[in-house]
Amino acid sequence: MRKFPAPIHNVVAALTKFPGVGPKTALRYAFSLLAMRQDERERLARSIIDLQNVQTCSECFAYCEQSICSICNDNQRSNDVLCIVSESRDISTIEAANVYHGKYLVLGGVLNPIEGQTPDILHVKELIKRLGEHPEIKEVILAFSPDIHGETTMMYLARKIKDLGRRATRLARGLPIGADLEYTDEVTLGDALIGRSEM
Ligand SMILES: [Zn+2]
Repeated sequence: MRKFPAPIHNVVAALTKFPGVGPKTALRYAFSLLAMRQDERERLARSIIDLQNVQTCSECFAYCEQSICSICNDNQRSNDVLCIVSESRDISTIEAANVYHGKYLVLGGVLNPIEGQTPDILHVKELIKRLGEHPEIKEVILAFSPDIHGETTMMYLARKIKDLGRRATRLARGLPIGADLEYTDEVTLGDALIGRSEM
């Protein structure tokens, strides 16, 4: 990269840490930041700093502002079904489909031992504990992207769930193989939830 003043260089270096952002894109962003008014830039900087106030829900591990999220706190939601997702952001994708009214648990990733994603660093223990403490949970929906790691994770969890005498279901196979849940439209995802199948 051409030599830029250190403040620009520092912003570019920080931005290239984002997924999908290479040096050229980072430089474009840095220049649009330079073109902003100082008060706008300060607002942006402040909103980034405020991310330190984000907590994880003590029950489902989703990002939230209190120690328990609004979904776990909502006693209108059914307690007989639990939906397991890989990341906190998957919850908003499923919520947008508006067909699921149970609670969630964020696993914190998918099994991928080569990358160090082993069961002990995911919330597997917490899932088992939750099922042990809540006999009212009859069904566990495994809502993972149908790629290789998602499939491995669902197989692994389904065995544990069934060992505990609960139903394990997965999203209907209508989702394209390898599709990322994040990029699935809400109608397709809603249909996949309604048509979920036994594992
Ligand atoms: Zn929660």
